Amino acid sequence: MVTAAMERSQLLDEQRCDRCGARGAVHAIAPGGRDLVFCAHHGREYAEQLRADGFEVSDLN
Ligand SMILES: [Zn+2]
Repeated sequence: MVTAAMERSQLLDEQRCDRCGARGAVHAIAPGGRDLVFCAHHGREYAEQLRADGFEVSDLN
């Protein structure tokens, strides 16, 4: 049985920050469906701007 926690950890292992390649911590989905991943550092830096641009921003942790 796969738990939600396991799925989340697998997601984190696979997804890397689009800016620096660090482990992903923030997931941003564009209005058109394109998605971006940022590390904790860049997620904090860009979340406000991404939300302003209409992205749906969620924390992977
Ligand atoms: Zn980063």
